[in-house]
Amino acid sequence: MKAAVVHDFQGPLEIEDVPKPTPGEGEVVVRIETAGLCHTDIHAAHGDWPVKPKLPLIPGHEGVGIVESLGSGVENLREGQRVAIPWLGYACGICEHCTSGWETLCESQRNTGYSIDGSYAEYVKASADYVVRVPDGIDPFEAAPLTCAGVTTYKAVKVSGTRSSDLVAVFGVGGLGHMAMQYARVAGASVVAVDLFDEKLQVAKELGAEFVVNARQQDPVSFIQELGGADSVIATAASARPLDQAFRALRRGGTLVLVGLPAENQMQLPIFETVLQGINVVGSIVGTRVDLAEVFELHRSGRTRVPYERRSLEQVNEAFADVEAGRATSRLVFGF
Ligand code: NAD
Ligand code: ZN
Ligand code: ZN
Repeated sequence: MKAAVVHDFQGPLEIEDVPKPTPGEGEVVVRIETAGLCHTDIHAAHGDWPVKPKLPLIPGHEGVGIVESLGSGVENLREGQRVAIPWLGYACGICEHCTSGWETLCESQRNTGYSIDGSYAEYVKASADYVVRVPDGIDPFEAAPLTCAGVTTYKAVKVSGTRSSDLVAVFGVGGLGHMAMQYARVAGASVVAVDLFDEKLQVAKELGAEFVVNARQQDPVSFIQELGGADSVIATAASARPLDQAFRALRRGGTLVLVGLPAENQMQLPIFETVLQGINVVGSIVGTRVDLAEVFELHRSGRTRVPYERRSLEQVNEAFADVEAGRATSRLVFGF
């Protein structure tokens, strides 16, 4: 089968013919229809983070496709069903985190397109318990970005505790940010979208952002403070400067939700202001299977939109370059 493979953290991905997987006990093999490109895949290919992915690696954790074959003991799925294969590829199911609704914190978890091979391939092997059914009526090109960008930001808005009278600022309206602002709107909040590219801000406007700020042209901190400050910020932009701005854009008692994962892995957090202004800072990692099912249900019922641009897997290196340069105005999705 065809796959895009990372061999080292410096070189480009190679399009290769690799063996098609066969399902083991409790596993399924899925014929991939669509695979979204999350910025995490770029961090993975570059080895940006403290914990490195396996090598060689087939990236991708926004895979959507059709169950082709079942391993022994799989009872929750049938051949022919459409499923999504998210970042949380496996968790133990019995630890304190798994049994308290926080499977995303499981210490035994395996991550699709990172510690196990992912969806930049014609077929993927996945743990049957951790794939999520895609309801009928959802276009697989729209289901793919929901599988990470959607569920991650849906969860981030949940942990922010957003209420209907809130102002939510979204720093970085790329793949994740375009979904974050919609979940904040679904929760009833007003949204201010911040980015460096007018094209992305235009999409944010079309998706319902009340205010947009191009941080190259205008100071987002003074703009947001003039509105009264943000009750929460969902920070998807992955560098120190927008995180510093996000912090300073908060209202007293506000919440900064860290979602983006900068390679430099540091931000300045002024302790005096954090304490005296009662600021909450919280990290949010993807979402559970139930969160993803809720994301699909919101989409099926017409409450979200997924802007995407179709690419082919052969163009994977150009696609990475486009996302890194900010040229992709919406999520890139590989069609198979
Ligand atoms: P993306 O490239 O599509 O979006 C990032 C956006 O940030 C872009 O639109 C970019 O223009 C904008 N940006 C960059 N610098 C900025 C600045 N100074 N001010 C304002 N905006 C700025 O990437 P994505 O796929 O949305 O992923 C974003 C980050 O989230 C990545 O670091 C990714 O690894 C991380 N991520 C985290 C989780 C999680 O569970 N926490 C899940 C998925 C992705
Ligand atoms: Zn992702
Ligand atoms: Zn566990």
